[in-house]
Amino acid sequence: MIVMQGQGVSSGIAIAPIAFYKRQSVVEEKTSVCADEEWQRFCTASQKAQSELERLTEKARQEAGEEASLLFETHQMMLDDEDYRDAIEAKIKEDKLSAIMAVQAVTDQFANMFRAMQDSYMQAREADIKDIGMRLIRILSGQENHRLSFEESVILAADDLAPSETIQLDKSKIVGFLLSGGAAAGHTAILARTMGIPAVIGLGKSLLSSYEGRMAILDGGTGSVIVEPNEDMLKRYRERKKQDAEKQSWMQELKGKPNRTRDGHEVRVYCNISTPNDVHAVMANDGGGIGLFRSEFLYLNSDDYPTEEEQFEAYKSVLADMAGKRVIIRTCDIGADKQIDYFGLPKEDNPAMGMRALRISLSRPLFFRSQLRALYRASVFGRLGIMFPMVTSVWEVREAKKCCESVKQELKKEGIPYKNDVELGIMIETPAAALISDKLAKEVDFFSCGTNDLVQYTLACDRQNHDLGRFYDPHHLSLLRLIKLATDNAHQNGIWIGICGELAADTALTETFLAMGIDELSVSPRFVLPLRQAVRDIDTRISREKILQELSYG
Ligand code: PEP
Ligand code: MG
Repeated sequence: MIVMQGQGVSSGIAIAPIAFYKRQSVVEEKTSVCADEEWQRFCTASQKAQSELERLTEKARQEAGEEASLLFETHQMMLDDEDYRDAIEAKIKEDKLSAIMAVQAVTDQFANMFRAMQDSYMQAREADIKDIGMRLIRILSGQENHRLSFEESVILAADDLAPSETIQLDKSKIVGFLLSGGAAAGHTAILARTMGIPAVIGLGKSLLSSYEGRMAILDGGTGSVIVEPNEDMLKRYRERKKQDAEKQSWMQELKGKPNRTRDGHEVRVYCNISTPNDVHAVMANDGGGIGLFRSEFLYLNSDDYPTEEEQFEAYKSVLADMAGKRVIIRTCDIGADKQIDYFGLPKEDNPAMGMRALRISLSRPLFFRSQLRALYRASVFGRLGIMFPMVTSVWEVREAKKCCESVKQELKKEGIPYKNDVELGIMIETPAAALISDKLAKEVDFFSCGTNDLVQYTLACDRQNHDLGRFYDPHHLSLLRLIKLATDNAHQNGIWIGICGELAADTALTETFLAMGIDELSVSPRFVLPLRQAVRDIDTRISREKILQELSYG
């Protein structure tokens, strides 16, 4: 029995023999080529790659949701990128390289360039360009798309898997995967979670090719992998797997039930979404409403500013689909890790602390007004709340509200209908906002705590830096105290408060949030039912005083 320890990035238990993923190798020994023929070969391969990517985009949309499909839309755009193609053409026509060698050389060059970039979003493009290069080379060398098909259930092992390889995993046979490399925040790990395939990454040199065909247990929750487990171990893990499956099925029975504690306290469990299509997942998981619609997708998924009409259609569709349930749409949160070329933002040394979110909206009134006009126009189709991100001062909120008023007046003059009772709220995601939440609460209808940013700004820990380990501590007392302070100030001023950062789904803190009096927890749709169960298991009378005591000063 051999035990390996890696990083669990997608929970669940898999029990099956290990099968190594064998990529086909490329044999190319051309020394002299006809440039025109090679360029033509490249163009044909590129068209074929586009068609494959179109099919993959659709497959990802159906199996892993809209966010996953955006990844392959990005691949389509990158494949068509003029700089990439021009560089390949130059290698073929000027350096007289074969199409395969040209693709390899240019892909390496682009991958190095992305890797050297400061911005983590751009760094992540390295994996994408390599994925595109691999696809082109496979097609150019006449190999069929390797389907990763197996006769029996296996745990797939590899050095790394490209996102496009991950999406093609046949879930009926590949019951888990193991990587010697990989990154927890990488797209491959995110896809594994969305597709529900247990996965362990970062096994390094402990993952040996001699394990091929040997029985193994993979625990995607703890990150441990046991090769050739003994009977006792197998029995234990089979039992846990059975319990997991049972849990999944009784979770379904929670649908339609209230998010009510044993002593009768209710909390709203809402969902975070990124695109209008995600509403299906909200419905399927019985989310009570939408606590955060990250409107950035419209901007990230476009080559130019989306028009007012395009924005209106997206907001209208979410509001109409949610049929009167509350929908909080956050105004554009661009900047920091979400950079968009056409915004032409100047390069900053410290973008997380620079021009982002509401700061951009207030500095670019035309851009802000077009989003507000679209939002107010859509307001008649449901129950809308508008939320401003990255607030630090009262004047910012007043200025944003003034823009809302002016947009309403404009619509009124134009005879365009809008609702007058749209709720206006802010995110509490900077320590400044939490510390002056008594003042801010007088300005708005609600607060929503963005704990992802609140952790990074409170603990001075970059949320993109995955090496910070235990220093990045979302349970830190300072953070909980800031949330408690904002909650008290919200309630003293008669407004509601929610949490929409990742921490909302952390059931180890559900009791603490309920003790504070949080009104709403907004989470990824798949966390709605587990969170509902956690709420229903709590009796706030038991530990409330103790929890509040721990949060208090002195
Ligand atoms: C947050 O900061 O917690 C949040 C919900 O916003 P985002 O993750 O989009 O920055
Ligand atoms: Mg945030």
